[in-house]
Amino acid sequence: MKRIVNFSAGPATLPFEVLQQVQAELLDWNGSGMSVMEMSHRDKEFMSIAQAAEQDLREVMGIPANYKVLFMQGGATAQFSFVPMNLLRGKAGADYIVTGDWGKKAAKIGGQLCKVNVAASAEADKFTHIPERGSWNLDPDAAYVHITPNETIHGVEFHAEPDTAGVPLVADMSSNILSRPIDVSKYGLIYAGAQKNIGPSGVTIVVVREDLLGETLPKTPAIFDYKQVADNESMLNTPPCFAWYVAGLVFKWMKQQGGMTAIGERNAAKAALLYDYIDSEPFYTNPVRKADRSRMNVPFTLANPERDADFLKGAKAVGLSGLKGHRSVGGMRASIYNAMTIDGVQALVDYMKEFVRTQS
Ligand code: PMP
Repeated sequence: MKRIVNFSAGPATLPFEVLQQVQAELLDWNGSGMSVMEMSHRDKEFMSIAQAAEQDLREVMGIPANYKVLFMQGGATAQFSFVPMNLLRGKAGADYIVTGDWGKKAAKIGGQLCKVNVAASAEADKFTHIPERGSWNLDPDAAYVHITPNETIHGVEFHAEPDTAGVPLVADMSSNILSRPIDVSKYGLIYAGAQKNIGPSGVTIVVVREDLLGETLPKTPAIFDYKQVADNESMLNTPPCFAWYVAGLVFKWMKQQGGMTAIGERNAAKAALLYDYIDSEPFYTNPVRKADRSRMNVPFTLANPERDADFLKGAKAVGLSGLKGHRSVGGMRASIYNAMTIDGVQALVDYMKEFVRTQS
């Protein structure tokens, strides 16, 4: 077996130890005589898996008791609609801060259900920075302020929570959840698709302050209603059991790694290794303002874009995969989520150096 170094933006690399555990437990989970894929979600075996996953997530992320944790389906994309369905609470609209394509999509889909005020956007600058907080045109009567703390395509990240003057902050954390310590109490709602830092695709995590629940738009189906999902422990219908189980193993792995502080430090070191090299070598460019650079997704371009295909081909030949940039921006992108090792990032830097050497 030869595993590649996987820089895919998502679904993405998972911790090797977790995959090994999944393999060991695949045919017979904990003496049950069956795989987690074959269990009834109502059986005590799966209930214990589900509850342990929530407890471990609460512990590792520091989720206060007045927040509900939901395990939903439909990806972050479904949350673009569920958020306004659930959080408008009689108000007419919400503020959106657009820092990349994902925030733009959230605003567009949110706009189908409520009045969306794009309070700030960096689109005119090709999403290369977070607009200054002072320039935001927030509506004091907004139901919530929506941000995308990490823009997966453009590699732009908030490094602190913005002050929203008491209006609930809603965050699409799909690509940087659990990558460093955060103060959950600063958020009204956090959502994230699992397939970057949490586990396989198919499960979506929602962390929501409970006082925001219970006032959905008329005709909101029960399965999209956070309160009803919470009251039924995310089991109104059959949940994505296997993805939930693997997510639980990843939360345990995070605790073993030393929790958010240790993981955050390692992520900072990995990102610094790559950005420092890119900044030192004129052949490569990252366009994002330094203070707003993502520690999870590092886009970069080559001085000579005609060499892009050769770069990718050579990378693949030495076992480095998933480096092609998103089709909307081109160039390269290295996604270096929690499960990417520092050795993996070092291997990429070594390859990038070697590629430059072969240019002359
Ligand atoms: N938001 C962000 C920040 C993302 O990176 C992605 C997926 N790459 C999405 C939303 C969409 O997620 P999903 O495919 O789970 O709907």
